[in-house]
Amino acid sequence: MRSRAAGVSMKTPVRPEIQALSAYHVAEADGMVKLDAMENPYAWPACLPEALQQQWLEVLRQARLNRYPDPHAKRLAATIRDVFAVPAASDIVLGNGSDELIHLLITAVAAPDAVVLSVAPGFVMYPMIALFNRVKYVAVPLLAEDFSLDMAAMREAIEQYQPKVVFLAYPNNPTGNLFARQQVEEIIDRAPGWVVIDEAYAAFAADSFLSRLREFPNLLVMRTLSKMGLAGLRLGYLCAAPELVSELDKIRLPYNINSLTQLSAEFALAHREILDQQASALCRQRQQMMERLQDMPGLQVFPSQANFILFRTQHKDASGVFAALKQSGVLIKDLSATTESLKGCLRVTIGLADENEKFLAALEMALG
Ligand SMILES: *Cc1c(COP(=O)(O)O)cnc(C)c1O
Repeated sequence: MRSRAAGVSMKTPVRPEIQALSAYHVAEADGMVKLDAMENPYAWPACLPEALQQQWLEVLRQARLNRYPDPHAKRLAATIRDVFAVPAASDIVLGNGSDELIHLLITAVAAPDAVVLSVAPGFVMYPMIALFNRVKYVAVPLLAEDFSLDMAAMREAIEQYQPKVVFLAYPNNPTGNLFARQQVEEIIDRAPGWVVIDEAYAAFAADSFLSRLREFPNLLVMRTLSKMGLAGLRLGYLCAAPELVSELDKIRLPYNINSLTQLSAEFALAHREILDQQASALCRQRQQMMERLQDMPGLQVFPSQANFILFRTQHKDASGVFAALKQSGVLIKDLSATTESLKGCLRVTIGLADENEKFLAALEMALG
């Protein structure tokens, strides 16, 4: 065998656009009040009554980790259909988080002339995954004053680019608003390809397209358990017409949902009322947080149908406020440097009452 001569470095085979990326950054949060990542603050399984914790452990004890998981996670898919009332005419494909589903969708359409279309500001994984797949990504700016859809621009972009896939997060991340229902319908009607309504925040929102799948053959509804309380399981689901799901199933890696996730998710969804109660409590906390933020001078607060609130610091530098909060032990998300339309903007996830209080107190100090 020939070995590489000392000092001769290998030229990286990695393509330049990947080299130019930095890896997805997750902030260090040890010991902090963690309000940066839209997680549910109720610890699983500690939030369960003792008897249920025991039952869950019993379920896990029956796992046979020497065996591959059910490749189609049939029982879990049936539970999801039942619990979330997925229309009978639609099929379900599961993903290792909805991030994996985004990957499947874009991989399925990837071709030299393919375009994926969404809005800006929008969810960061759409452009990232488009880039991984060498697919052109087009983002239509939302209207600056309220982050609503710019319909004239959307119509024009759909006409010009004929996108294979349109992604709309409903409600939108990182802005928190729901787009107008009729405008979304118009986009679904006009789009020549798939329209994915990303309902990651469905548990906190007043509207959904899930029950409407049959009305629109090109509509796909994607959801996740992450924001509703089980981010650690990594489970997303996508509902759409069977002929569409069967195409995605061809490129799904065979055992993408591991056994422990299948068992735990089935168990958790069988006790869905616990997750629902948490979501209701978080919606009440959101309302209180909204009012408190609106009362603070110098803030522009945007309406939210999600488990986070976007706000703009009008008189103080947002990054300075973010740093001061961090200094006080509260971690939120600084979006102020990401795009022009988010100038001065910070995003806070709704936590438990005492966490929200700590945040509000620290914010008052920082603005003071
Ligand atoms: C968090 C989020 C996701 C990803 O969720 P996972 O299931 O954890 O991968 C997808 N879409 C939007 C809009 C999100 O905010």
